[in-house]
Amino acid sequence: MDLEDTLLMMPGPVPVAPKVLRAMSKPMINHRGKEFSAMFDDCTAMLKEIFQTQNDLMIVSGSGTASMEAAIGCTIDKDDKVVAIENGKFGERFKDIAARYGQVVPLEFEWGQSVDLDLVEEKLAEGAKAVTMVHNETSAGIRNPAPEVGKLAKKYDALFIMDGVTSIGGDDVKVDEWGVDIAVVGSQKCVAAPPGLSMLSVSERAFDAMTKENLPYYLDLKAYKKSADKSQTPYTPAVPLFFGLQEALKIVMDEGMEARAKRQATGAAAIRAAMDAMGIEMFPQLNEVSGYSNTVSAMKAPEGVSGNDIKSGMMDKGIIIAGGQNRLSGQIFRIGSMGNVAPKDIMLTIQELELVLK
Ligand code: PLP
Repeated sequence: MDLEDTLLMMPGPVPVAPKVLRAMSKPMINHRGKEFSAMFDDCTAMLKEIFQTQNDLMIVSGSGTASMEAAIGCTIDKDDKVVAIENGKFGERFKDIAARYGQVVPLEFEWGQSVDLDLVEEKLAEGAKAVTMVHNETSAGIRNPAPEVGKLAKKYDALFIMDGVTSIGGDDVKVDEWGVDIAVVGSQKCVAAPPGLSMLSVSERAFDAMTKENLPYYLDLKAYKKSADKSQTPYTPAVPLFFGLQEALKIVMDEGMEARAKRQATGAAAIRAAMDAMGIEMFPQLNEVSGYSNTVSAMKAPEGVSGNDIKSGMMDKGIIIAGGQNRLSGQIFRIGSMGNVAPKDIMLTIQELELVLK
């Protein structure tokens, strides 16, 4: 397989612009020097715009899951209740992480089914320190009702911890307006940087809730904040990835978040229209507060065909799409269209898919 000729149409890692790759080959710098701090501040400022937040912004050398764990690990103590909303693999991950630190109140929906807000309210009304939800459930291609859950969290005085791993930088995510206390994103998704970093915004309320005696060590968000206030990270950062992130974020800024979100939504709508024309059903079951994902489309494999065979057929054509994860393996296939994926990449993917399915 010729990597230079392969088209990544999966939900991350996504194709990375040549100037991002070039930036990563720059000579190493002193991570405690002025040059690094200037880059750190630049990245932080751009990220705050993308997150639409005034909250503190941390950059962790570790993938999205590291920041998910930092969020839970710092706020949740062994007796604290966490309402963990699950309608896919990453909701399940939040639930599993929460179980390591506190008392999970699971709120499980079939993967790909919409979240029922009445049930969320019912659980929150019983009292909980936090509620976790994945905004864009990548495994099922569904967009969950973040503003509504933010309102409920506020009403019942719970922290809202949101996985925005495949929505922030691709969708119009309003962290402050929605009342998200901790929002997490991964570098290899919508901002189209290489994998290895994750970024999270943390509200004052969330910091105030970090009252447990022993915070995690490497993922201690208070330590991250103390360092961030001095334009630093507490431990040696992955410097080449920061170089790449800075360039990737500049690309996002040049396009503008509004235009980017519109492009993502249009791309996903084009994929859905093509699926409809081919008689392929979308996987998520929507209700009035959910939506199809704007960054990853999940489709049911047609009768008698495995999603994995569709994935292999596409791979033979040099296009990497995704199958279903865990219990969804074989049942669905997914096309990622996040990051800087161009309309022509989407068109080519649709055309080749039609040939694979013939
Ligand atoms: N959350 C969501 C919604 C994801 O899509 C992913 C990865 O695909 C993760 C969390 C985990 O992120 P990572 O693999 O960067 O740890």
